[in-house]
Amino acid sequence: MFDKIVIANRGEIALRILRACRELGIKTVAVHSLTDRNLMGVRLADESVCIGPDKVIDSYLNIPRVISAAEVTDAEAIHPGYGFLAENADFAEQVEKSGFVFIGPRPETIRLMGDKVSAIRAMKAAGVPCVPGSDGPLGDEPQTNLKIAKEIGYPVIIKAAGGGGGRGMRVVHSEAALINAIAMTRQEAKAGFNNDMVYMEKFLENPRHIEIQVLGDGKGKAVHLGERDCSLQRRHQKVLEEAPAPGLSEEQRQTIGMQCVQACCEMQYRGAGTFEFLYENGRFYFIEMNTRVQVEHPVTEMITGIDIVKEQIKIAAGEPFTLKQEEIKLRGHAVECRINAEDPFNFTPSPGKIELYHPPGGPGIRMDSHIYSSYTVPPHYDSLIGKLIAYGNDRQTAIARMRQALDELLIEGIKTNIPLHQKLMRDSHFMEGGVNIHYLEKKLSL
Ligand code: ADP
Repeated sequence: MFDKIVIANRGEIALRILRACRELGIKTVAVHSLTDRNLMGVRLADESVCIGPDKVIDSYLNIPRVISAAEVTDAEAIHPGYGFLAENADFAEQVEKSGFVFIGPRPETIRLMGDKVSAIRAMKAAGVPCVPGSDGPLGDEPQTNLKIAKEIGYPVIIKAAGGGGGRGMRVVHSEAALINAIAMTRQEAKAGFNNDMVYMEKFLENPRHIEIQVLGDGKGKAVHLGERDCSLQRRHQKVLEEAPAPGLSEEQRQTIGMQCVQACCEMQYRGAGTFEFLYENGRFYFIEMNTRVQVEHPVTEMITGIDIVKEQIKIAAGEPFTLKQEEIKLRGHAVECRINAEDPFNFTPSPGKIELYHPPGGPGIRMDSHIYSSYTVPPHYDSLIGKLIAYGNDRQTAIARMRQALDELLIEGIKTNIPLHQKLMRDSHFMEGGVNIHYLEKKLSL
């Protein structure tokens, strides 16, 4: 096992990784920007290194500085968390070239999956069901593109091959709008992701977002940990997640789960990963793979009893892979509410000083958060300040516990989206289960 790890992230996930390290007896190095010197993950780490000013480009995204932090502290490995450099293949490559272990998949896997066009091709070849689409990048010939769209059938969605975070997508409902939409998405993709490659997919009208969590040892062994339902989204960004997905049968779970496992075995996938699918009329359609730990990983941990972050570290350290598919049992139900520092109605970010923080408790409650009373949420980063997770023997119990926990959770001094979650936990359609990806936005527009 490693002796010391650099945690190349901030906020709740840095603290989450630190907790896993402590359990494994690994020393931690926190890297941070100037503003972040008072972060909980920095306070608790064995060592910390300030890697630059607040702008992410000069700190959390600065590859030489992150790697230098590992060099000066004599660390052996780097955990990237999610966001920032987590899915940057060049970073993973440079970490390895500098003699450190990257806690994640091989650089070539990250590269393959980071380009959605190549990811879809690889998945198709491995027998994973995909959304009907252009089967490759779109060219500049209008007639060809119109023909592709006609064959797929409107509405279609134009997506950036390098897109992420819900950006770089445009829905097209008619032939008249297609050519312009392709040009606009291409422009945005170039500006936002420095990659103007775009592709086309059938726009599924009322799907749910269901994803499969996998773990692979990098040598051809892999397991799946069941699914998460992340259909409650705003602007293609997840707001609330749960596991298992309401209404999914054990047979459906095993079928899609084993297709993902098969794909992982074929590409000798290393570490934790997620296959994201849209799910409509009982069928799964692959949209992308995330080659990192996800924000919503705790709901899977709650129902499987498997610590995904510890598994990531153990796999990276080359420990024997002891997980067996037949021993992975899903038990109970878990719901996660993403707590954001933002206005609950117009969603504008609300950074500032937290005057009072009181986390909830009681049976089945887990709060993953780095905040504390008197902590100042900086304006420079993502507005996620915590994740509240509720577990119960069944979905109803998990929801009842979440309702109570949200009422107990006090965050004063800044605005948060707690009121939105309180509403959702009393929403009759959510309580029934199985709402689609448009449900939240429709509800918000009423
Ligand atoms: P990102 O990498 O930006 O998260 P994804 O490809 O994972 O992009 O898509 C994010 C969300 O966008 C999905 O969860 C879904 O809500 C919507 N979406 C993406 N592709 C389609 C599609 N073909 N049809 C309908 N909705 C889609």
